[in-house]
Amino acid sequence: MDFGLNAEQQELYDAVLTFAREELGADPRVNDEQDGFDRGAWRKAAAFGILGLPVPVEYGGQGRDLLSTLIAMEALGRGCPDNGLGFSLNAQMWACQMPIVAYGTEEQKKKWLPGLVGGDLIGAHAITEPGAGSDVFSLTTRAEPVADGYRLTGAKTFSTNGPVADVAVAFAYLDRSAQGKSRALTAFLVPRDTPGVTFGAPIHKMGLRTSPMGEVVFDGAFIPAAARLGPEGAGAAVFNSAMEWERACIFAGHLGAMERLLEWCIQYARERKQFGQPIAKFESVADRIADMKVNIEAGRHLLRLVGWLKQQGRSSALESAIAKLFVSEAHVRACLDALQLHGGYGYMREYPIEREVRDALSGTLYSGTSEMQRKIIARLLGL
Ligand SMILES: Cc1cc2nc3c(=O)[nH]c(=O)nc-3n(C[C@H](O)[C@H](O)[C@H](O)COP(=O)(O)OP(=O)(O)OC[C@H]3O[C@@H](n4cnc5c(N)ncnc54)[C@H](O)[C@@H]3O)c2cc1C
Repeated sequence: MDFGLNAEQQELYDAVLTFAREELGADPRVNDEQDGFDRGAWRKAAAFGILGLPVPVEYGGQGRDLLSTLIAMEALGRGCPDNGLGFSLNAQMWACQMPIVAYGTEEQKKKWLPGLVGGDLIGAHAITEPGAGSDVFSLTTRAEPVADGYRLTGAKTFSTNGPVADVAVAFAYLDRSAQGKSRALTAFLVPRDTPGVTFGAPIHKMGLRTSPMGEVVFDGAFIPAAARLGPEGAGAAVFNSAMEWERACIFAGHLGAMERLLEWCIQYARERKQFGQPIAKFESVADRIADMKVNIEAGRHLLRLVGWLKQQGRSSALESAIAKLFVSEAHVRACLDALQLHGGYGYMREYPIEREVRDALSGTLYSGTSEMQRKIIARLLGL
């Protein structure tokens, strides 16, 4: 076993961290207050190669292996304080680009990947519906087969990047009763300008406010057969593979954000004096920081195990769920500890901690809630 980074991985980590600190490190406070999306920073991230990390070279990507990509996404999360931007980049990479890489036809890959990877196009993922969240396979959007394609009818909600997206990977049932529950679920690549499709107004969130989110509504929209992603009935496989990617790679970004918090906390605990000494000298303060470090190291091992398994072509359904559950909950705890450690200043909006708390709280909800991760783990244990 080798737990270290090789020279190439270390170089990649350092390069992404430096890039993110220097180019994406601007204070996101104003965008957070105004629900603003930083398209300029998006383009910079694309030009640096972030979006293309795991995408094959022939489609404009860097063709990096998953473990290296995971290491790079951790560095991005650490160096970029705009968690919403990082989340939007991740959402496109894992829930739009990688499904195209894994399930797209050659024509679909050539049509979409270079623009997505290069930053000219933005991608979204639309499966959640007002009535279908955790029970996602109860969704009701229908794809009625017609000559040369399908007519989609239904409404999606909570689609990250929706308001700015050029294309969405969307899911609909062909004929649920005839083919069984998840077998008839099918994925489609839906361009923004499709007649009968509305990428709706932004939905305003508590955190990750710099990451746009919206509804996507299908009103009998014609989607040609050439825009079907994967075979009819492959929707569950497309969705599950996207979730496995997300649960490892988005949460590498959360781990990076925890590193950033740790650095701030160490610095603040050394500088802030009460009772004539730095607060770091108080055991209960130092203990919070020690716990943060323990959780970062544990989370890193869990995430890298997922990366390693996927790199070997092995299933990581159990390990992805464990890593997602652990890192998302540890991140919330780290944020609350950081807030407590900063005292009243942590609660004030001029400091970044309250925003970090709001951003981190999303992690126990998206890509499957904590409760659903525990259900997956229990099921895979045979319970
Ligand atoms: C920041 C963010 C970004 C998102 N981005 C996207 C996106 O890009 N595309 C997309 O399609 N969706 C997206 N979502 C939607 C997300 O996937 C859903 O919010 C999530 O799956 C939960 O569904 P729900 O909100 O309807 O909650 P519900 O499913 O209604 O859950 C409510 C509560 O009940 C619990 N619960 C439900 N079922 C069970 C059960 N069987 N056992 C135990 N507890 C249960 C849940 O854990 C939760 O605590 C996003 C959500 C967030 C917060």
